Amino acid sequence: MNLGWRRGGPRISVDNDRCELYGLCQAEAPELFELAPDGRLRYRRAPEAEELPDAVAAARCCPMQAIALHGVAG
Ligand code: SF4
Repeated sequence: MNLGWRRGGPRISVDNDRCELYGLCQAEAPELFELAPDGRLRYRRAPEAEELPDAVAAARCCPMQAIALHGVAG
């Protein structure tokens, strides 16, 4: 997974204090979220435009409402 930072565009952030590592985000958007072998959630902060629907779906399915999308209308 490329975790690189791209200037401009929407951003994903995860509140680690809320995240309980259920992994539903990975199920919805495996290209963006990954439960790593070390038990931590890794995610790509700068989704491509075509990945936004999956990012929104992941944010909506998170039972802890730990995922925030910045710079996304609606
Ligand atoms: S769905 Fe939410 S609580 Fe579960 S791993 Fe993803 S961010 Fe964490």
